[in-house]
Amino acid sequence: LVISASQKQASIVILKPEQQHYLYRVLRLKSGDRFIAMDGQGNSWLAELQPDHAALIEPIIFQSELPIAVTLMLALPKTGFDDVIRPLTELGVACVVPIISDRTLLNPSPNKLERWRRIAQEAAEQSERQCVPAILDPLSFSTALQTIDAKQRLICAARGASPHLLTCRLVAPSVCVAIGCEGGWTDAEIDRAIASQYQPVSLGRRILRAVTAPIAAMALLAGAQES
Ligand code: SAM
Repeated sequence: LVISASQKQASIVILKPEQQHYLYRVLRLKSGDRFIAMDGQGNSWLAELQPDHAALIEPIIFQSELPIAVTLMLALPKTGFDDVIRPLTELGVACVVPIISDRTLLNPSPNKLERWRRIAQEAAEQSERQCVPAILDPLSFSTALQTIDAKQRLICAARGASPHLLTCRLVAPSVCVAIGCEGGWTDAEIDRAIASQYQPVSLGRRILRAVTAPIAAMALLAGAQES
């Protein structure tokens, strides 16, 4: 369960009505049952449910976050972005940047963004992560190239003879990977990314759908760090 700083008073957490509903009705916990509480910023605790609050029993030292923070810049696909956020969160993404690229057709409403952030929070809770991934407000690709900082920068290019992502030695502390939408990146966008130190990489010989490519890339990046 993700808790905010304002809910925590020493070792007591005052539960909001929707959190009580989730714990008692959805998870079917009873008073005295234990669960994991986290602040979404890297801290988590073993907590015990009490009638109208939760008691933090002890901090959890287990680290479930990836050692190298992965940011994914995703050119927004026309449909299916909802279904991408959950698996990316389960796989350990640190930050998702929705990109309005030359071929993007979707301009998401604030409601959509709220929904994506809610999905990320639920998925982080379910997969027992310490951190909830940040879902940033959408940026144009040019702005993102200038403002998103990462030690290592990669762009997935569906065509051409780029090295496979698996062959890249990841560089701590952070990697950013840019992935196109259904129509892919324009040549001008790839050139701009290369000028901003993005290295083109391949995800294999087959063309993956815009909603499959980020999940494949994230699985490879997580596997490379944890194997
Ligand atoms: N017709 C588009 C093109 O030629 O670029 C296909 C775009 S693909 C559906 C969507 C995005 O997924 C691509 O822009 C790329 O970032 C990524 N992608 C898909 N398959 C890939 C592959 N085999 N290697 C690298 N990137 C890939």
